[in-house]
Amino acid sequence: MKCMLSWGAIAVAAAAQAQTPQKVNAPDDRYKADILIVVAHPDDEAFFTPYAVKALNDMHKSVAVVFSTRGGSGANRFTAERGPAMANEREIEAREACSKLGIRNVWFLDGKDSASQNVLDSLSNWGHGANLEKLVGLIRLTRPEVILTHHPGIFIGEDHGDHQATGVLVFEAFDLAGNSAVFPAQLSGDMTHYESYLSNLRPWQAKKVYVGSDADDGKQFNGTGPTYSPREVSPALKKPYWRVALDSAMAHKTQFPEDIERMSKMTDEQLEKIMGDPNTGWWPDPSTLIFGKSVVGGSATDPVFSHMDETPVNPASQVTGSCDSSDKPGLPRLELGGLWQFYSNFYPAHGLCHLKIAATPEFGIKAGSTLVVPLVVLHDTTKPAQLSLTIKLPEGWKAGPHDLKFALPAEGSSAVSIQVETPALSAEELKKAVPQEVHVTAEVDGKAAGEVILRVALKAGGLPQSL
Ligand SMILES: [Zn+2]
Repeated sequence: MKCMLSWGAIAVAAAAQAQTPQKVNAPDDRYKADILIVVAHPDDEAFFTPYAVKALNDMHKSVAVVFSTRGGSGANRFTAERGPAMANEREIEAREACSKLGIRNVWFLDGKDSASQNVLDSLSNWGHGANLEKLVGLIRLTRPEVILTHHPGIFIGEDHGDHQATGVLVFEAFDLAGNSAVFPAQLSGDMTHYESYLSNLRPWQAKKVYVGSDADDGKQFNGTGPTYSPREVSPALKKPYWRVALDSAMAHKTQFPEDIERMSKMTDEQLEKIMGDPNTGWWPDPSTLIFGKSVVGGSATDPVFSHMDETPVNPASQVTGSCDSSDKPGLPRLELGGLWQFYSNFYPAHGLCHLKIAATPEFGIKAGSTLVVPLVVLHDTTKPAQLSLTIKLPEGWKAGPHDLKFALPAEGSSAVSIQVETPALSAEELKKAVPQEVHVTAEVDGKAAGEVILRVALKAGGLPQSL
């Protein structure tokens, strides 16, 4: 055996001397993007299109877009098609919108448009793992310096689970794409000439992530990242950035046909007036790119492309055990569960403790519907326990049918939930409504286990809490 290996090595060396070197192809520069925009639905690229116009035309950056879904959910007030047929149309509308900006590298993940506020419903409905692998592959293909995506957090607002799920996938993919041990089939070259399952990509570490939020209160993000002015006139195009972004958005006929019809009849002056209005304009001025994450130096508000020549640190070095540095009370302890528990694990696991989240946990729901408050009780693992909850509600709100006493098994962490019936409000009442607080206090075996507070806004409509 040893002898055969020696002969083989000599034979290879002799062959190498006799041949001219084989060319190894470089990655394809046509797909290299300085900025990769990763958003949930056709039309969500508009979270970033004024900035993309500036980056493409006046900063001379390349931009590519990934959509997580093809937008098969929701209404079509333009034509008859719905569901899968509407998704086929919306894919074309999204490509047309991007094309109007000069963006031709556009891809779609396989997420299914999931109309709820529950990020975990979206991730499950999409096939979380398969789409994470696909996004990592697209990051390795496009090699972005900066990624722009949705805020992975819960806010009173549209609070779309698909938006949050897209943000979750991006932060996961950002941390994984540079790791050569992750999805290795993407990184392997072919060993036989026409082997078609291996991608021959390279590991890639993007440097920064910024996010956009669908929260109703956009002002809470002031100062959390670099700003730009959508009203600024592009030196190259001689038009304001918002104007080019608006022309691009007109491709989304199945999403907001009435607005498109109305705005297409307006003069530039009329359009400028409504876009400049803080209540009706689509893009506030200035607009903030909320700082998500960086693996190079600088502060949250530094320019997007600062520190790009620095060697990135390994994102794993930014992981922390918990984002809550305050001394937590001992056991037993009541905390918000469900999605809030997921995010309290997600942020430290991806080095996101600085990411701006709601100061008090908050949620928006249609007035008159049932609000489910998920809770988790941390307690002694060695014996069963009796949990007793006390709920303090705003006037006119009612606790649902669930008994507020629970027999907990001997486990460290038990999940329970309560249901709250919210009052139906008239249109006038809804206009004046301000967020209210739901307070839940707990005792375990007669011992105080603390309180959780959820700030709740009653709205005229919006997405359901879960699918
Ligand atoms: Zn969306």
